[in-house]
Amino acid sequence: MRWDLPEADMPTTWFNVVPHLEGPLEPPLHPVTREPVGPDDLAPLFPMALIAQEVTGEPYVEIPGEVLDVLRLWRPTPLVRATRLEAALGTPARIYYKDESVSPPGSHKPNTAVPQAFYNKSEGIGRLTTETGAGQWGSALSFASALFGLECKVYMVRASYEQKPYRRVLMETWGGNVVASPIDDPGHPGSLGTAISDAVREAASRADTHYSLGSVLNHVLLHQTVIGQEAKAQLRLAGEERPDLVVGCCGGGSNLGGISLPFVPDRDVRLMAVEPTSCPTLTGGRFEYDFGDTAGFAPLLPMYTLGHDFVPPPIHAGGLRYHGDAPIISALVRSGRMEALAYPQSKTFEAAVTWARTQGTVPAPETGHAIRAVIDEALAAKEEGAERVILFNYSGHGLLDLSAYDSYLHGQLVD
Ligand SMILES: *Cc1c(COP(=O)(O)O)cnc(C)c1O
Repeated sequence: MRWDLPEADMPTTWFNVVPHLEGPLEPPLHPVTREPVGPDDLAPLFPMALIAQEVTGEPYVEIPGEVLDVLRLWRPTPLVRATRLEAALGTPARIYYKDESVSPPGSHKPNTAVPQAFYNKSEGIGRLTTETGAGQWGSALSFASALFGLECKVYMVRASYEQKPYRRVLMETWGGNVVASPIDDPGHPGSLGTAISDAVREAASRADTHYSLGSVLNHVLLHQTVIGQEAKAQLRLAGEERPDLVVGCCGGGSNLGGISLPFVPDRDVRLMAVEPTSCPTLTGGRFEYDFGDTAGFAPLLPMYTLGHDFVPPPIHAGGLRYHGDAPIISALVRSGRMEALAYPQSKTFEAAVTWARTQGTVPAPETGHAIRAVIDEALAAKEEGAERVILFNYSGHGLLDLSAYDSYLHGQLVD
């Protein structure tokens, strides 16, 4: 039921999907001049190694040994077959999940936090700023910063800062300095967009400080491809030639990219993005250039967007409340290579609870979106009497999201 890769078989390169896309990605544009941004524009915010990865056309990028040494604390992660869920559904589908919840912060996010901290440290940077919604990314970056001896300042969306103390405590335990955003408007509940603005503004104004983003950008998706590369090898160990379908929930697109990008060249593998109906960027947004943040300090990206001033309702899957999507994911959806669908949160919690009562673990509310789609696909396979291999990314655990489960279980969840 479970396939562990030997440590020696952990990927030593990241997979770059860009050469496999139908056309070149359109470049990010400068927020003021609206000209393509160059390395000089990005240098106040990011180390040169990451700027180079952002635009690389190389098919693979080597993972530094120092990064591999840290990833080995929890990687390779297990590939597990969800046989109890299969039995409960009575489906002929074989459901496999890649368990990214086993990392120290409990999600896939340290796969990129660790290399980002490493490259900043190697280029002489002493401090990082970032934003966090519910606290998943802030805790991943606080963890990675602690291991590389960097200071980490996290602007946390005020509503979460006030309502979700445990992730703040986790960040502070790893040495992170957590402040509520927006800093200049204490009555505002904040959003990911305002927190990005705060973090970018501080990094741009201090020479010792860079900014770090947990999703959306090409280099972030690149770092996450360890997930899909490992999963490919593990599926072979499980005796599967290939999955028929690969599923991930989509906020900015990093865990989805991580599991699915290595399968893009395999044309007969379906790829699926799952998002909330309350923040339906891929299924309800428009493809256009839009600012990465609310205030308009960050570059314009070619992506599906609901508008940079869109403030999503306060659903419990905080990681899926972003107004845009990764340009790479946007390009795949636009070209028809990837499908997208949306669910209201009550349907995703129903699926998450079904999971907990069959497989045992409690998924993050974000992960519940992927599980919802997997259950529906497995039921469709049952209807058709079709054997089908479904792979999905179990992006994180929900043990710090129990108040959300409390609302669902006591009928207080609104869609
Ligand atoms: C942050 C997060 C997400 C959403 O972010 P992506 O960049 O779309 O992956 C999904 N699941 C979990 C557990 C997260 O922490």
